[in-house]
Amino acid sequence: MTENWTNQVALVTGGSRGIGRATVQQLARHGVALAINYSASPDKAETLAAEIRAAGGKAIAVGADVANAAAVEAMVARAEAELGPITILVNNAGISWAATLETWEPEGFARLRAVNTDGVIHTIRAVMASMKARRYGRIVNVSSVAGFGTTGFAGNHFYAATKAEVNILTRRFALELGQHGITVNAVAPGLTRSDMTEGTKSAAEWEAFSAAFARVAIMGRVGETSDIARAIVFLAAPDAGFITAQVLTVDGGRMDFIGHGG
Ligand code: NAP
Repeated sequence: MTENWTNQVALVTGGSRGIGRATVQQLARHGVALAINYSASPDKAETLAAEIRAAGGKAIAVGADVANAAAVEAMVARAEAELGPITILVNNAGISWAATLETWEPEGFARLRAVNTDGVIHTIRAVMASMKARRYGRIVNVSSVAGFGTTGFAGNHFYAATKAEVNILTRRFALELGQHGITVNAVAPGLTRSDMTEGTKSAAEWEAFSAAFARVAIMGRVGETSDIARAIVFLAAPDAGFITAQVLTVDGGRMDFIGHGG
């Protein structure tokens, strides 16, 4: 892994919980200055920022609903004023929505798309001017294996559709921004233990739920947030500059995806 992490400033959306939090912690260990974005969890973001500062690092908590373009622009302006130009953008903020054709309703899908897809567009548009000016940037979007449309997990069609959009946009934005020295990649996690998946399940419910995914994974387990963060940090590294337009699957080898079977 690279040792060359000088003068790096990262914005991690949804940075106070789950995969975003693990990413913030790993980037902080490389000495990266962190803008930790939150929407509904200001206390968690402030606490994490204070922990990083107490350990000698640089971090601030910055609020914005990524679905709101004006709020994202204001957040980026504040982060850059306090920390310097953003060199790393991790688009991790996301929500899930369990819905089928029977239960679909337009407001639910609109909100899902506003956060998972529009959010990615808003943040990239907000950081790209300063990245272009410096001819340098690392953008990592957090997608999902659901976005490949080949997993066997039922009930998340519309979430999967937003992640498919993220995969396509990752490749298309890489094409647009590469000439400016900016790489754009995505990480597609398989089932990972976080509030999104463990949520309000009891220990027994989580055991049964996660075991079903572990059984179809080559590595025999589900993901931890640190597993996903390591891949994000790899793609965000200064010396990852020859990797772009890629969607990296991090799922322990899910066989329902690879084998199109159970
Ligand atoms: P999580 O524990 O539920 O955390 C979600 C994060 O997103 C929170 O920090 C939350 O911040 C933030 N967020 C949600 N809506 C937001 C908004 N409108 N604006 C700004 N931030 C917002 O979920 P996670 O599992 O870590 O998921 C992180 C990413 O990984 C998501 O994009 C998810 O789709 C993807 N993913 C997860 C899994 C999995 O199995 N866990 C698998 C594949 C992909 P606040 O609390 O401050 O609102």
